[in-house]
Amino acid sequence: MEQTAAQRIAIYPGSFDPLTNGHVDIILRGARLFDRIIVAILANPEKTPLLTPAERVEIARDVFRGTPNVDVDTFADVLLVDYARHRGALVIVRGLRAVSDFEYETQMALMNRHLSPELETVFMVSSAANAYLSSRLVKEVFALGGPVAGLVPPAVERRMQERHAQKVGP
Ligand code: ADP
Repeated sequence: MEQTAAQRIAIYPGSFDPLTNGHVDIILRGARLFDRIIVAILANPEKTPLLTPAERVEIARDVFRGTPNVDVDTFADVLLVDYARHRGALVIVRGLRAVSDFEYETQMALMNRHLSPELETVFMVSSAANAYLSSRLVKEVFALGGPVAGLVPPAVERRMQERHAQKVGP
């Protein structure tokens, strides 16, 4: 999509390791609120990521292929506020599930406002069905052989099963 000065661009940052239906819901709702929403995948090296940043980008592009105002990008080793400025974004979108998200998320929002007062953080409350869903729990359930269908997009499930098959071998 062409960028114009009047566009309202939002950044939705996170690890997305993996992308869950909770993230997808926030992104699709954000895509209705803003002219463009950039899913910004944090590519800082983690000790044990399930999926590489490149895989996470590929999956997210696949999932949002039909939603043209969703962009997918990675960022690393840079302040989120600087990345947001670089992308011309006015808003950071974050999802809020339970009370437990609140403290961390408000700390982050206040720090980001301190660093960049013109950048606004907008919280979107998770849908009830996704209120218990986290990437970490999905990974734990999957690692112990539990089903992840309905918790993540089919593209993520396929990738997780491929990964499992590679580990287990023929
Ligand atoms: P991080 O690695 O920063 O914890 P995540 O990739 O887990 O980020 O999540 C990115 C954002 O999505 C965060 O704001 C998080 O609170 C939100 N989020 C994660 N899971 C859900 C969910 N099930 N429903 C709504 N928001 C969610």
